Amino acid sequence: MKVLVVNAGSSSIKYQVFDMTDESVLAKGLVDRVGIPGTTLEHKPAGKDEVVIKKDLPDHTEGMKLVLEVLVNPEYGCIKSMDEIGAVGHRVVHGGEEFAKSVVVDDYVKKVIRDCFDIAPLHNPPNLMGIEACQALMPNVPHVAVFDTAFHQTMEPANFLYALPYEAYEKYKVRRYGFHGTSHFYVSHRAAEMLGKPYEQCKIITLHLGNGASMAAIKDGKVVDTSMGFTPLEGLVMGTRSGDIDPAIVFFLMEKLNMNAQEANNYFNKKSGMLGLSGVSNDLRDILEAASSGNERAQVALEVYYNRVKGYIGNYIAKLNGCDCLVFTAGVGENGYDVREKICENLDYLGIKLDPEKNKVRGKEVDVAAEDSKVRIFVIPTNEELVIARDTYNLAKAQ
Ligand code: ADP
Repeated sequence: MKVLVVNAGSSSIKYQVFDMTDESVLAKGLVDRVGIPGTTLEHKPAGKDEVVIKKDLPDHTEGMKLVLEVLVNPEYGCIKSMDEIGAVGHRVVHGGEEFAKSVVVDDYVKKVIRDCFDIAPLHNPPNLMGIEACQALMPNVPHVAVFDTAFHQTMEPANFLYALPYEAYEKYKVRRYGFHGTSHFYVSHRAAEMLGKPYEQCKIITLHLGNGASMAAIKDGKVVDTSMGFTPLEGLVMGTRSGDIDPAIVFFLMEKLNMNAQEANNYFNKKSGMLGLSGVSNDLRDILEAASSGNERAQVALEVYYNRVKGYIGNYIAKLNGCDCLVFTAGVGENGYDVREKICENLDYLGIKLDPEKNKVRGKEVDVAAEDSKVRIFVIPTNEELVIARDTYNLAKAQ
């Protein structure tokens, strides 16, 4: 069976086509600026040259139509007809408390995705648009929703509840959900394989460090804790998000800067983090470069970034009562060896010792811990699309 994986954002559609007989990727691509003048589609068929198509597209349905045309194109497509696609897997950011696993999309699933608009206003509406666009164009195949929050639903109340009046949880579902679940799931399973231990017997700390960043503590196959919370704003310092702050800062700055709730949301999500602190960029590569040429704000921003991650490592080792391995993944985690080195510096008390020579790798699955490190330190490139394709395939087969 061939599976199409779709990740629809507010103005973009990412896609991959998998042949599930060997899990190979037949093609992947990105439609950017959907609904904005200057739409482009970049299509990369396996073993062939990339194709770029420029054509303004008003919405996700037109965007998906173009993707399907490209997929069957005799010159650069990867399938002869759409009938070859047996199922479509959709990334959905928020499944609330309803879904701890991937599900075949029906009216109820769409209702739950819609019910979560309130708590995921940036992500769930375009995710649903993507599903509905694909269903309209491919009505006869199963569509599967794979949720970013699902893996974290194994968390216990002791770690997902905030110390607020209980009605905030009961009435408004204010609790920790956690995100990047598909990535934490994938890399933690690979880590157990690298440890040579059953997944259900491992203590693993995963560090998904990209533009958005989150960590998870996983014990006996379940998430014990994760750093993103009610929304992806909590936790680590990110490209443009503040991560953990004293909540009183929000009211204080709303008054000082005369911001309403929406403006404050924008301030902490889009203007803060490494961008706000360094004044250089949200891209860690730019900040590392600025820091090494003597920019002091960039230097201190990096210290804040490293300290936050170290703090979470300590927190999670305490909660897990030990740790078999740390796993670095996503853009920074996979490529930024200097960042990995700084994070692991002076953690030998916790049994974490990195080998600086082994560590000089980018984007490869490898153990970079020193021989005598009690805790293994893995670099594992994430593959969320493969998890989505596998879940989709398994659910479609069972239909
Ligand atoms: P997202 O999917 O959240 O947008 P990615 O996982 O693609 O993010 O990661 C993007 C981040 O990875 C950027 O901040 C970029 O600077 C960082 N990155 C990529 N390569 C390196 C590198 N060699 N060193 C440090 N950071 C890097």
